[in-house]
Amino acid sequence: MPSDTEELRRRIYSDVLTASDGGTRPVSRDYLLGYEVDGQRLPLVDPQGRGIRNREDWPTTLSIVTSEKGRYLDTEIAPGVWTYPLAIDKHGRRDPSNGKLVRAHEDGVPVLYFYKPIPKQYLLIGQVYVTAIDLGAMTATVELAERAEAGSAVEVEIERMWIDRLVRTRLHQPRFRMIVMDAYASRCAICALPEASLLDAAHIRSDTDPNGQPVVENGLALCSIHHRAYDAKSIGIDAGYRLHVSPRLLAMEDGPVLVHAIQGIDGKRLAVVPERKKRPDPHRLELTFKDFLNAQ
Ligand SMILES: [Zn+2]
Repeated sequence: MPSDTEELRRRIYSDVLTASDGGTRPVSRDYLLGYEVDGQRLPLVDPQGRGIRNREDWPTTLSIVTSEKGRYLDTEIAPGVWTYPLAIDKHGRRDPSNGKLVRAHEDGVPVLYFYKPIPKQYLLIGQVYVTAIDLGAMTATVELAERAEAGSAVEVEIERMWIDRLVRTRLHQPRFRMIVMDAYASRCAICALPEASLLDAAHIRSDTDPNGQPVVENGLALCSIHHRAYDAKSIGIDAGYRLHVSPRLLAMEDGPVLVHAIQGIDGKRLAVVPERKKRPDPHRLELTFKDFLNAQ
């Protein structure tokens, strides 16, 4: 069995970084369970689906996972710092599995941290240190290893911006894309194009707007053409999910793409509407629809 060494943990981190394209794409549960070191299997997440992966022969926790259960925004307390709920047993008592996380805290050993926005798909956030354990609140505070190693005072601000960006690239952006693509079954909401590589997770209200939260009801899966056209106010979507094409584009005469992809959708309803609790928020649609009308 591979033993727990700093070098091995570094190697695992580097392998998962490579597999996830620098942390920008999810890795599958199959990849994590089938992970091998020198021909020996070393599952990186718990095979029973628990949020903590301990190995009997390792003194400290190998990895922890946060699953999306509507707690996405409140678990991040600062860029690169999260609250992780400790495991409790069915009686609400502290589960023995936490012991190795406490040990990781005491020994300063980094733990792999994953975020699971949808079933079986994991985003690698990075290696984290457990910086505090609160047994009253049953939480651990974890901090990205890169952040914990911040340098001098001058570098702190640069470090903060860098961490902010790292978290955005590894967690916020891919997570938003995953939940939106999942809700729309990887089809364009306007034309139903089913090709993930040509689809974006578009915001209804941009992320600089007060209503611009990265939640599924502020998202639309759109193909590149419809995304550009929606952002440019060439297409509007009203609160009743009806599509409106700008008069300027309706008056244009050109080839089949204009006719089918743009003019042909005027007056139709969204081609793909997700299940009820994941549908686009009518209030946000209305705000952006007003912007569309004002731009004509
Ligand atoms: Zn489309």
